[in-house]
Amino acid sequence: AVTPFKRPLTVLLAKPRGFCAGVVRAVEIVERAIAQTGAPVYVRHEIVHNTHVVDGLRAQGAVFVGEVDQIPAGATTIFSAHGVSRGVEAAAAARGLDVIDATCPLVQKVHNQGRRYAQLGYDVVLIGHEGHAEVEGTRGQIDGRLHVVATAAEVASLVVADPEKVAYISQTTLSVQDTREVIAALTARFPAIVGPDIRNICYATQNRQAAVQAMAPHCDLILVVGSRSSSNTTRLREVGEIAGVASHLIEGPDAIDPDWFDSVETVGFTAGASAPERLIQDAIDRLRGFRSVTVRELEGVDEEVVFRLPPRLVEAMAS
Ligand code: SF4
Repeated sequence: AVTPFKRPLTVLLAKPRGFCAGVVRAVEIVERAIAQTGAPVYVRHEIVHNTHVVDGLRAQGAVFVGEVDQIPAGATTIFSAHGVSRGVEAAAAARGLDVIDATCPLVQKVHNQGRRYAQLGYDVVLIGHEGHAEVEGTRGQIDGRLHVVATAAEVASLVVADPEKVAYISQTTLSVQDTREVIAALTARFPAIVGPDIRNICYATQNRQAAVQAMAPHCDLILVVGSRSSSNTTRLREVGEIAGVASHLIEGPDAIDPDWFDSVETVGFTAGASAPERLIQDAIDRLRGFRSVTVRELEGVDEEVVFRLPPRLVEAMAS
């Protein structure tokens, strides 16, 4: 048989990409909890914002629910990596749920910082996207005057008790560039404002965005693997677009449209912090169906961050 000629395509892999330490920990917490207590184990909210990860854990015996009142009293319950409000913690306690908290330690750090500012009497501005699970959780961890803003334009309409006593914190998965703009607007309006600069944006979000920025000049197209509900994944696609490269977010290989590749010689791949590497490899396999593919991983940061598991799960596996 004659092999049909396939045009060559170079695939560049951004580094780092995909799973972060908070996602690895959250997934492991669910798997170990199922091993320890047996199925079902209840998880409030998607453990991480990725359909494939959630489906995989569901197959192992995890039951995902929107709210804790859907969970049988006393059942083992895991809070997702995004964190929860105090109201959710109280509702879980009232039902006697056996809670294992998979909130990412970096989200917890933001909660602590926000609480400290509120206790000191500051109006706290939370830079983030209204409606995202992490923002709902962080808002609900802070007693006092809290305001959520997503854009620099929204800063003008903030009403605070004392302009000399304003602090800000941020969601962990924002665009570094957008956040700098919001912080600049806040500082212009409240010169005495205090806050962490962009340090609330987690290492994984910052590293993945920087890797896309570095990769973009070498690409005709960028594909970002991940789910639309994932904030950090959505930001990665935007970073590609802002760098001037057509960028698509794909949930998996089936979402690839061969027409995107008509005049493409080099495609860059990255994946959100909650997207398994397997999805990138499956997507590349799909490209092999219509192009002759060469894959090259770019130089980038080696991430060595590991978060400790809750002690009860570590002991359970050791015994
Ligand atoms: Fe934690 Fe960052 Fe991963 Fe979110 S993206 S789970 S904050 S490490």
